[in-house]
Amino acid sequence: MKIHEYQAIEIFQKEGVPVIDGHIASESGEAAGIAKKIGYPVVLKAQVLAGGRGKAGGIKFVEKQEDLEKTFRQLQELKIKEYGIEKILVARAVDIKEEFYVGIAVDNLRNSVVLIASSSGGIDIEATARENPGAIRKFYLNKDKSIDKTRWLEFICPVFKDSSHQQTVTAIFQGLIRIFFDNDCSLVEINPLVIDGQGEIFAADAKINFDDNALFRHEDIYKMRDLTFEDPDEREAEGYGLSFVKLDGNVGCIVNGAGLAMGTMDMIQLTGGQPANFLDVGGSSDPEKVLNAIKIILKNKNVKVILINIFGGITRCDDIAKGILEAKKQLDISAPLIVRLAGTNEGEGQELLTQNGIRTFSTMREAVSQAVRLGRES
Ligand code: GDP
Ligand code: MN
Repeated sequence: MKIHEYQAIEIFQKEGVPVIDGHIASESGEAAGIAKKIGYPVVLKAQVLAGGRGKAGGIKFVEKQEDLEKTFRQLQELKIKEYGIEKILVARAVDIKEEFYVGIAVDNLRNSVVLIASSSGGIDIEATARENPGAIRKFYLNKDKSIDKTRWLEFICPVFKDSSHQQTVTAIFQGLIRIFFDNDCSLVEINPLVIDGQGEIFAADAKINFDDNALFRHEDIYKMRDLTFEDPDEREAEGYGLSFVKLDGNVGCIVNGAGLAMGTMDMIQLTGGQPANFLDVGGSSDPEKVLNAIKIILKNKNVKVILINIFGGITRCDDIAKGILEAKKQLDISAPLIVRLAGTNEGEGQELLTQNGIRTFSTMREAVSQAVRLGRES
């Protein structure tokens, strides 16, 4: 789950990370009041859960009161990656002398949490990592999450030259570490961390992502969820207890188990096709889930064929077949159904489907080839 900059700023403040004075506004009158309190010039920052906001025109400077309303309205009319803008952060405009990147992320290859610092802040950090990896410094915590002092100085000093800045940044990192672990984050990032004309340091942007699987133990965080930025089909699937991720291809997939679902998508790709989604109906054997899965997949207009790949363990193939037949009864399914059932009660399942004119395949390879072929032909 992602949260907005203004929400992340509140969390930063609680942990002593220096942020820029600002407040959130939904209309221009409100913004004018905030700007008056803060003092001009101010920056208006569109609150969207999408990257590259600055480049998309989502950040605007306002020098004086007369310009505020017009600029605010311009920003309200802007769309960033198809998203409209409802909330705008009004913040004091800082005179920025230097921009840095600091953050904490999960390093999947090292199976560890990594602290990152770079003097090339502000811009696209992924591009810097590709083109100039030397400009990005990394630090790994000790096993007990403590900091090794010698290694710490080697990490921080090449990026922040001034010793008072080194102290401030160390305190900032300590705050970020607390935020990261206390909230089960997957990313905490300040880009840019800025130094102004007086040599003061502030977080000029704030980004926090959370591990969805740990949200159940962070009610306060979960409350910040903004559904307007989430895919409506993915949200609906979540309500049905299905793990669903939308993709770009035309082969709709319904599979039981995340591993088999990934394997199915790999095989589709290797056979020359493209999956339209990841969908795991789970290990249960509920016909209703199959019905809902087909419902969700049919909403995607790119889907030309539906591939159902089930390996029955706890899941019983005849229950899956019942779900498919129920879906055929209730829904207008124009895409062909390609079904492979193997495992518990496969005979019963296959018979139910065959009786109703749905052909089944006994191997995954055959089913995938057929689905990819139909996807290509349509
Ligand atoms: P992002 O594009 O969503 O990452 O938006 P940021 O909040 O990081 O802002 C992008 C860029 O706008 C920053 O790197 C700064 O160069 C600039 N910016 C943001 N706030 C201020 C500010 O208060 N003063 C100045 N001078 N520049 C700012
Ligand atoms: Mn940024």
